[in-house]
Amino acid sequence: MASCFTPSIPSAKDRFATVFVASVFLASVFGAFGALCGMAEEPAVPVAAAASFSGARAMAHLEAIVAIGPRVSGSEGMRKQREMVVDHFRAAGATVTPQRFQIRDRKSGKGVAMENIVIGWHPDRQERILLGAHYDTRPFPDRDRDDPRGTFVGANDGASGVALLMELAGAMPGLEGPVGVDFVLFDGEEYVFGPRDPYFLGSTHFARQYAAGRKAGETTWSYRAGLVLDMVADADLTVFQESKSVSWPETRPVVDEVWDVARRMGVRQFIARPGYEVEDDHVPLRNLGKIPTADIIDFNYPAWHTTRDTAAACSGESLEAVGSVVLQWLREQR
Ligand code: ZN
Repeated sequence: MASCFTPSIPSAKDRFATVFVASVFLASVFGAFGALCGMAEEPAVPVAAAASFSGARAMAHLEAIVAIGPRVSGSEGMRKQREMVVDHFRAAGATVTPQRFQIRDRKSGKGVAMENIVIGWHPDRQERILLGAHYDTRPFPDRDRDDPRGTFVGANDGASGVALLMELAGAMPGLEGPVGVDFVLFDGEEYVFGPRDPYFLGSTHFARQYAAGRKAGETTWSYRAGLVLDMVADADLTVFQESKSVSWPETRPVVDEVWDVARRMGVRQFIARPGYEVEDDHVPLRNLGKIPTADIIDFNYPAWHTTRDTAAACSGESLEAVGSVVLQWLREQR
């Protein structure tokens, strides 16, 4: 994740985290009880809808990605990760298409090979949803006061969105309804060594290619909406609405839908008010690609861009909270 303009709101965190654990537990107990006895009031969305997204499995994916080490664009770690995720999504039944491009390293002047990965489900469906996550990691933990040139493994900022999508893959072949889904893993979100280096290389390339294809009439299918998933595994998760996503007229309905799903499912980590304004991959997708894309991000993360952004700061419960909401939102597309 790139940057943020508004100070975060830490005060609500502890309160909501505690309430959530209790509420999920109660919801599961009463959901199961109600189903057995047939006497509980029918919730708007069955709680069981969340059951097919496993936070434990998503967390295992996150740990496997982090175990590779740093995954900077063009590096050996990135290559290893690419191999792992491509195998995973192919085995799950997706159509996996690389989108390769080159950038020039601003310091060395050398070319750096970049590759977005498009993971398609139900390719015959002409109206589609984009779920995006960056899969590169920042070269250095430059906000780490003690070790700004140390090792950065990006467990939350990098691996979390990928891990969530890896787990979500299991539910995609059975997704009914009119919309197809593309997971897009973006390279070069933060190939950033200094303050003047550009962000969002992968999502910018993807958005331009998509817009050009639409304009030329070569791309016949279209994206109805998109979500960018970034920093979604913080063990102390609070997902406020992101201000740009709220303020753009075409992404506001996407935000409203997602937070409404969370409210109906009792997923209290989603807090239905703006909490921060963030520069992320949703900006080029919306501005250049004209894809109405909202950013789902917990920016209240003290380990951001430090050596402490490790699996220990993340949790499967948090991945499950976000993953189950995203899955239910997909299932409600009409
Ligand atoms: Zn970042």
